[in-house]
Amino acid sequence: MSALASPSAPASPADAIPSADDLVARVKSYHPKADEAKLRRAYDFTRDAHEGQTRQSGAPYYSHTVEVALLLADLRLDVATICTGLLHDTVEDTEATLNDLEREFGPDVAQLVDGVTKLGQMNLRSKRTKQAENLQKLVVAITKDVRVLLVKLCDRLHNMRTLHFVAKQEKRERIARETLEIYAPLARRIGVNRVCVELEDLAFFNLNPAAHQSITKRLTELRTLRSKEVAEVSASLSEELLAAGLDARVFGREKRPYSIWRKLEKKGVGFEDIADIYAFRVLVEDPTDCYRALGVIHQRWRCVPERFRDYISVPKPNNYRSLHTTIIGPSNLRVELQIRTEDMERIAEDGVAAHWRYKAGSYAFDPGAAAAAGGDPVERLRPLMEILNQGGDPDEFLEHAKLEMFANEVYAFTPKGDLIALPGGATPLDFAFAVHTELGHTAIGAKINGRERPLRTPLANGDVVQIVKGGERQPPAGWEDLVITGRARAAIRKLIRSSETDEFVRIGKVIAEHAFLREGKVFRETILEDALKRLDVDSPEELYLALGRGQVTSGELVEAVFPGMKEMRGQRPQDRDRIDDDHGQLYVHGRGLTPGVSLHFGSCCSPIPGDRIVGVVESGKGVIVHAIDCEVLAAHEDDATDSWIDLKWTPETQNTVSVGRVTATVRNEPGVLAEMAGIVGEAGGNISDVKTLERTHDFFTMSFDVEVFDARHMSNIVAALKTSDRVVSVERTREVGEELG
Ligand code: MN
Repeated sequence: MSALASPSAPASPADAIPSADDLVARVKSYHPKADEAKLRRAYDFTRDAHEGQTRQSGAPYYSHTVEVALLLADLRLDVATICTGLLHDTVEDTEATLNDLEREFGPDVAQLVDGVTKLGQMNLRSKRTKQAENLQKLVVAITKDVRVLLVKLCDRLHNMRTLHFVAKQEKRERIARETLEIYAPLARRIGVNRVCVELEDLAFFNLNPAAHQSITKRLTELRTLRSKEVAEVSASLSEELLAAGLDARVFGREKRPYSIWRKLEKKGVGFEDIADIYAFRVLVEDPTDCYRALGVIHQRWRCVPERFRDYISVPKPNNYRSLHTTIIGPSNLRVELQIRTEDMERIAEDGVAAHWRYKAGSYAFDPGAAAAAGGDPVERLRPLMEILNQGGDPDEFLEHAKLEMFANEVYAFTPKGDLIALPGGATPLDFAFAVHTELGHTAIGAKINGRERPLRTPLANGDVVQIVKGGERQPPAGWEDLVITGRARAAIRKLIRSSETDEFVRIGKVIAEHAFLREGKVFRETILEDALKRLDVDSPEELYLALGRGQVTSGELVEAVFPGMKEMRGQRPQDRDRIDDDHGQLYVHGRGLTPGVSLHFGSCCSPIPGDRIVGVVESGKGVIVHAIDCEVLAAHEDDATDSWIDLKWTPETQNTVSVGRVTATVRNEPGVLAEMAGIVGEAGGNISDVKTLERTHDFFTMSFDVEVFDARHMSNIVAALKTSDRVVSVERTREVGEELG
């Protein structure tokens, strides 16, 4: 197995730096014809170029580049890639230029170093939300040459191995998280499992040392406890296979702390369920032997049928091939087995790197060998790139880019491919506000992966979200419920406040204009100066706002601007007496109505002159006047007929003003309220109060109290309102609706 540094046993800064001889020997072990002189030149180049620079550990900087080269040699890569490992930081961190490298080491090495340098520069922008965006660029870059990624992965691996030397915890965590979210998944994607699991464990160790420690401790305990059984099972397996004429290597394998941790996070799984399993790997000569070994083992011990997998017949997308089975093995122990050839093992561990070999005299990546092993793994990256660019299958992205440790995150993309990281459960509206506050404000709809979806739809990983914009800012009341991010919520609240204020100011201005019009005056803001003081407001806007909100009536405004005018001019719509409980008797007469009896207008139906009316005698209350179609009357149907009184409006009512109520549902568009107020004013009505009943994304339902002469006047106003194409429905209200503050 691979020689992995344990996170708990960090390398000492005093460790000797491997020499050029060490490196050459390592490369020659798998690549005897390697260009030794070139390797030595690159070794000297990195040592000299980084001279005087040190790592945070205190070690000379070039110790890092040499270690990266050795890691690449462990993957048995070509000389150009090893040289790139040695030189990968020279352009970024030293005086050396790409031209220097091209002259010294050829265009191949220069291009590879360029690719690695560019990836490194992206990492400088290390904001969390930028990371997966980097991933996208990374993938695009490496699909040109997978060696760039292999160098970058080994670079990251060595940096992770020495991460404990980084003083700032914040920086350590950032690097660890980036490793877990970007580099480890990419390593897995191209099958370089050995690097992937070490990256994961090192990241896990840095992000959650306590959990890492406790898992490691329990693993150690388990190992001690069951060492005897492991040896016995291993021996029994070997014996059985040997007896069948199979030459097999059998060894126990341990689960990685991070892989246990991920599984522990799933509900209903305990440590024992995962870790207390006897796991073995059986390596044989060729694929046929895999099936023979399987047959031998299944014949000898009972298998657990649902646990059997044939990844030789159907390899995993990253070319992983193996047989998996679980048996009730020796001593009734549950034993997990992976049966594969040495070649499959190599691919399982090194992935794409397993396909470097001699062909036509040169040692290089062999696409043919890769294809024979189940397809070019580099090709496997292309779908990921496409997912990142265009959306595609979200599950695919989920599998590779989402990590359970940070599962509460959603990565969605703009149509241009920019990545937006959001908390789980976020909606397109959150997305819009995350892109830009203005985009959130103007959003009226969303297309997710090309299809129109409601703005409340929770986003999934990999969704491509296109925000449909409206022409103007939408008053987004009610949208607060559609978002979960603080940023979106704060922006919406702010806009609700300002847009409602805007609306009321507009209404108030229209009310003021019409109030002046009725007085036969031309409205000018300058005329308000004295009135502002009397009404205790600071500015015309504040006055309009108060008018629009009904805090100041138009009558009060006129009185404030023209003191004493009410007395002088007599009756004007807003000044004339309103029909109310105290004066009802003046306007209504009828047979059987006792003079002097207390008369009230039902608040249930608010009858106004012109309505057909009826009175109901209620003991202790007097007579209540209802509109003939009032629903409350139904409750009195069984009453004695003499409690009903036929009533008529008196002719005097022609000179009075009544207050009726209109409920209108209008499109939630800027300016719509001012338009309503204008229509009412032009029809001779006078809005005395406005209440918001309901406000949704699309519609706005409100009630107006309107001063009118009679029911016919009211009908005219309702009809006038209906002429507006922004009015969805409008009707005279009989009952007072539930008012929202
Ligand atoms: Mn480096």
